[in-house]
This record gives sequence, C-alpha cells and structure tokens, in this order.
Amino acid sequence: MKIIDVEAIWLRVPSFGEPCEWGEDAFLVKVHTDTGLIGIGESDSAPAVLKALVETPSSHSTSRGLREVLLGENPLDIDRLWRKMYDESSYMGRRGAAIHAISAIDIALWDIASQHYGVPIHTLLGGKVRDGIAAYGTFIPKDSPGDNAKLVEGLLQSGFTSLKLGGGLFGADPDHDHEVMRVVRETAGDDVDLAIDLVYQWKNYRYAKTQCERMAQFGLNWIEEPLPSDDHQGLRRLAETSGTRISGGEGLSTVAEFSEFIRETRPDIIQPDITRCGGISEIRKIHDVATRYSTELVPHGFSTGILMAATVQFLASIPGGELIEFSQSTSPLSLDLVTNPITLENGKVMVRDAPGLGIELDEELISKYRVEMTLGA
Ligand SMILES: [Mg+2]
Repeated sequence: MKIIDVEAIWLRVPSFGEPCEWGEDAFLVKVHTDTGLIGIGESDSAPAVLKALVETPSSHSTSRGLREVLLGENPLDIDRLWRKMYDESSYMGRRGAAIHAISAIDIALWDIASQHYGVPIHTLLGGKVRDGIAAYGTFIPKDSPGDNAKLVEGLLQSGFTSLKLGGGLFGADPDHDHEVMRVVRETAGDDVDLAIDLVYQWKNYRYAKTQCERMAQFGLNWIEEPLPSDDHQGLRRLAETSGTRISGGEGLSTVAEFSEFIRETRPDIIQPDITRCGGISEIRKIHDVATRYSTELVPHGFSTGILMAATVQFLASIPGGELIEFSQSTSPLSLDLVTNPITLENGKVMVRDAPGLGIELDEELISKYRVEMTLGA
C-alpha cells in the first residue's frame, strides 16, 4: 500500500476578521492510498498555517512539505513516518504548528492501519481496558453571573456530573469570578465536580496563590492554566502550595516538551490535545512519562467529532484514561461535521469497536465551509 495524496482541508464558518473561539474553524487531512483506503485526521490549530506546512514545496532536506515527505510511502509504517516527518520539517518544526500538522496526519495513519487490519485502533494500541469514559462538560460562563444558573441546570440535565468553565470574562476580575462560582456551585450542588480554566490570566505566582485561596471554598476539582505554560517556577510553586490540583499543557507538543513541563512544574494533571501534541503516537509516549511522575492525563478536546473519536480510542487503551472533555460548542463543525458522532450516554461516552475512527464525514458541509487557498496564488 502506498500514500498517493495528503489532502489538507481548511474549514471556516465565520467571516474573515471574526474570531473562531468556539470551534468555528477546523483543519482536516485525508490521507489517500492506492488501495482506496482513506485515513482522516484533524488538528485544532490555525488551519491556514497547517495547510501551508503540508503543501509547501521543499526548500531543503530539513524544510520539506509534509505531503512531499509522505508521497509513495507505506502508511502502515507509522512510527517511521512520524520520525521522517519530524526530521524533514525540523527547521520550521520540532514544536508548535508543524507538530500540529503531524498530529493530524498521524491520526489519519492510525485510521488507515486500523481499517487495513480490520481491528479497532484500541486493539492496535494494546487492548481496550474500559467500555465507557466519564465526560466532563466545558462551557464559557455567561457574562452576568446569575445567568449561569440556567446554563448549569441544562448541563446537569444532559447527564454531566463534572463541569469546567472558563473563557469569556472569567479570570479578569476576582469579584466577578467569585460571584460566577457562587451561582454555579449553588446550582450544581456539592456532588458535582467543578473545575475552572484561567487561560493564563493570573499572570504571576503571588496573585495566583491569593486567587487559589479565595476559590478554595468552592471545592474545585482542578485549576487549569492559572499561569503561562513557560512560567515553570510559578506553576511549580503553585502546585506545591495552592492546595488545589493544578493542570495545564493543552498548548504543548511532543514528549520532549511535556517531559520538561512535567519535571519542572510538577502538575497534578496534564492536558495534551491529541490533535496538537503529536497525535496518537506521541500522546502514548507523553502518557508513559506522566505515569512516572504521578501525573494524571486528562486530554484537552474542543473541536470536531474527529478529535473526539481519536481521543476515545486512546483513552480506551490506557489504565488512567477515566475522564474526557466534552465540548459544548454549538458550531456546525462541532455538531455536524461527523454524521455519526460519539454522544453522551448517562454522563459517559462509549468506546466503539469498529475498525478505524469509525466516523463518517458530511461532505456537503465540507464543501460549504471549505476555504480554497493555493500557495503562490
Ligand atoms: Mg483550557
């Protein structure tokens, strides 16, 4: 079997100039083979940048477009191809966007291999250890604190027993945040797990420590990204002194970057995004490191049903894969791109046993939102 094309697909719902905060753009790849098998992958990143990384003509041996790197190769050689992509894009890659693009391709290669061998991806990953994964719902709180009661009631009715909030106005004003949390905790009751995501807005250790102490009364499950990911010393001190579990890492890529982050900051939880960290292949290595540092892995996931399907297959295969993020985005790309999405059942997502990612794409929706961009045009 040979790879005959790597199709880089950029989807976008809002007009240009409008932000895509809620999964309203997406980057997909389809890896085509000479047998007719097609692998699907995605990355939650900047689609135009990733499209360029796939399609760019080669400059020299360490600045090659990923499509050129893969053409003619056997898609079943997943590890070898991962290293080839990494090495041959290393001048513009090694971290960040190039690894995001490699992540999408890696997921597509696992999709192909799984279909080729006729077994689920979780079988190729060593075997399924669970049939269902508890899901937590992520939402952006309403600006007016009182409006969050109705929102939370709706989420509880959907079956969630674990929630996380962040984004919007949250994080900028401690008094406002306190009021939001008071409403959310009162509505949710004491039995629901609550976490907050600061998206680095607490800026320095001293400030963050004070806010952690103020939030302690709400009994938080974790506090996510209180400080920038590169503030290793601040994060480490917070992990040691805050009394609440600290999490982070959704923007990091490669086992190298995660290893340093884990060693230096000692987080309780890391949150690699399977579509950014290096794909299924790399998140397995990241998990191995995490287990040696008493660090839980609760993946980030806030994009389409492709990300969800890949994340479920990975979590199904690891002993600690007991919690998954479940986006509350209302974007058509989140809701409708995959026509047979994994859904919530009694607060859990169930693990599928079909070969491949087991998803079908809405090709009409892809045509509707596809952005055509040709290099050099
Ligand atoms: Mg986050």
